[in-house]
Amino acid sequence: MALIVQKYGGTSVANPERIRNLANRVARYKALGHQIVVVVSAMSGETNRLLALAKELMPEPDPRELDVMVATGEQVTVSLTAMALMELGLKAKSYTGAQVRILTDNAFTKARILSIDEHNIRADLDAGYVVVVAGFQGVDEQGNITTLGRGGSDTTGVALAAALKADECQIYTDVDGVYTTDPRVVPEARRLKSITFEEMLEMASLGSKVLQIRSVEFAGKYKVKLRVLSSFEEDGEGTLITFEENERDGTMEQPIISGIAFNRDEAKVTILGVPDRPGIAHQILGPIADANIDVDMIIQNVSADGTTDFTFTVNKGDMNKALGILKDKVQAVIGAREINGNDKIAKVSVVGVGMRSHVGIASQMFRTLAEEGINIGMISTSEIKISVVIDEKYLELAVRVLHKAFDLENA
Ligand code: ASP
Ligand code: MG
Repeated sequence: MALIVQKYGGTSVANPERIRNLANRVARYKALGHQIVVVVSAMSGETNRLLALAKELMPEPDPRELDVMVATGEQVTVSLTAMALMELGLKAKSYTGAQVRILTDNAFTKARILSIDEHNIRADLDAGYVVVVAGFQGVDEQGNITTLGRGGSDTTGVALAAALKADECQIYTDVDGVYTTDPRVVPEARRLKSITFEEMLEMASLGSKVLQIRSVEFAGKYKVKLRVLSSFEEDGEGTLITFEENERDGTMEQPIISGIAFNRDEAKVTILGVPDRPGIAHQILGPIADANIDVDMIIQNVSADGTTDFTFTVNKGDMNKALGILKDKVQAVIGAREINGNDKIAKVSVVGVGMRSHVGIASQMFRTLAEEGINIGMISTSEIKISVVIDEKYLELAVRVLHKAFDLENA
């Protein structure tokens, strides 16, 4: 007997028929003798519908009120799911985040989980119930309803699995696993049987949207065994996110690269003719951090003539804000020549733990791009990834040729 947490996304609870399918799957697991905790999202489109409704009345909606409202999406699906399970003759009980007591901080719309009281859930499981918990929501010390940020039901699932020391956390979604890259860009992309937690973290932060990144961080911290699966397939094995490097795909001949990730959501800000003296980087990035703007890549040239160029990337939506903050300082305070922004860029990354023990990955990547005449604007590396910034219009070409160059279509 195992304790399994199954998280179902919005498409898996989109209508009564799909909820019935979900209940049938749960019943099959239950019949095998497992204890099951189900975590559900709101019906697909529901969270967006609610957010749009709020904006009609208050263009910048009050965050506390927003959370009271959007949490209703999941409250609907937990009860419907419990009803569908009861109709199959199972004992089932639904819980909101507050009823479980998923305690969070009070950062409305992006709250963090502080603790989970798993007491009642455990008692219900032992009494033979399937427990259905609302994803995405919690409650703060004062009893205010909070939510965990978009896609937050993944985090609820993983956090519950950690609190209950579950044997596995299964994330059911509308794709059948994690792919070597987005199959919409490269039709030959292949589902990975497994991927290491570290690689998954890179893939998620680099734009692969299968899992909310915080859920992956959570899984890493508490060593939760995670599996991504399709809710539309009977017996798919999905993708296992593993902590063991030698458990990952292709054990016989370890692939060096596991996937190609990309991100179209970044823009770059460049400051030209920056005087090369101590404190400059802080003068530029300090005000950006103070404005709560996330910076991803940072590049500063060596100076040949006492001045240098300084470039960093931010989310596209933050570019104008960053330019606005620095505009007046560039000449007056920093003593640089000019500043400009470019939001027609994209970031492409090759990711793989095998890179640690292999040289030449970077040169192979750069050669592949050069052969297509794709210019590299920025480069950054870590132990297990190499990212480049290129012109947005070459993104799909870059992903395709890299996927081929690293032989990812063949297992
Ligand atoms: N319903 C929330 C959203 O759409 C949370 C989730 O589905 O994970 O973001
Ligand atoms: Mg999701």
